[in-house]
Amino acid sequence: MLKGEGLFKRFGSLEVLRDVNVKINEGEIVSIVGASGAGKSTLLHILGTLDEPDAGQVLFNDKKIEVNDSKSINKIRNEEMGFVFQFHNLMAELTALENISLPGLISGKSLKETNERALELLEMLSLSNRAEHLPSQLSGGEMQRVAVGRALFNKPKIVFADEPSGNLDSKNASELHQLFFNLRNKLGFAMVIVTHNNDLARESDRILTLKDGQLIT
Ligand code: ADP
Ligand code: MG
Repeated sequence: MLKGEGLFKRFGSLEVLRDVNVKINEGEIVSIVGASGAGKSTLLHILGTLDEPDAGQVLFNDKKIEVNDSKSINKIRNEEMGFVFQFHNLMAELTALENISLPGLISGKSLKETNERALELLEMLSLSNRAEHLPSQLSGGEMQRVAVGRALFNKPKIVFADEPSGNLDSKNASELHQLFFNLRNKLGFAMVIVTHNNDLARESDRILTLKDGQLIT
């Protein structure tokens, strides 16, 4: 479903990715591991169309992502992809329900429609009783679940997560990981997760290890 072919990326004289080839299949959970600075986030951003490679290409459903075609990239990014980061990036002044609804409101859906979808997601995330809470009134684990809800709002085919549990204690981390697997089984999206968490990596369907800018097996 998602392919990166011959990806190269450098920052100044620093070669971060050197001929990286990856393929993500529908519904699979793939972990990217490697030392700090190995290029994991860079690879994730390129696969998620948030950054562009110096050479090589990214294909989504066999269609090349055209970096200059911002209209079609935005469409793919908003409708087919979801993103979860280490820091939840929730809007402080919006409730859990409103934060989850944002992607729908941005794409012009009615409040009635977005409310229905957000309530459905809150239920799936065991957050129904937190709908009207502000981020400051939520625990770290709950905030990250709201961020997952926001990422899933438009029913993405693939979710990218950069150290999603990096800021959580081990109990909340393993609960979040369990949630990823449960939701994937239920909804069928694929996930690419950058993680330092060995349990999560071990449980995922496949592990990609980055070293010196290349994937090692
Ligand atoms: P990881 O996520 O594996 O820790 P990154 O992909 O964030 O690694 O970064 C890989 C290397 O590229 C690091 O040495 C980092 O400092 C450098 N780097 C990342 N982004 C930039 C940037 N925008 N400008 C300059 N250097 C960068
Ligand atoms: Mg990183």
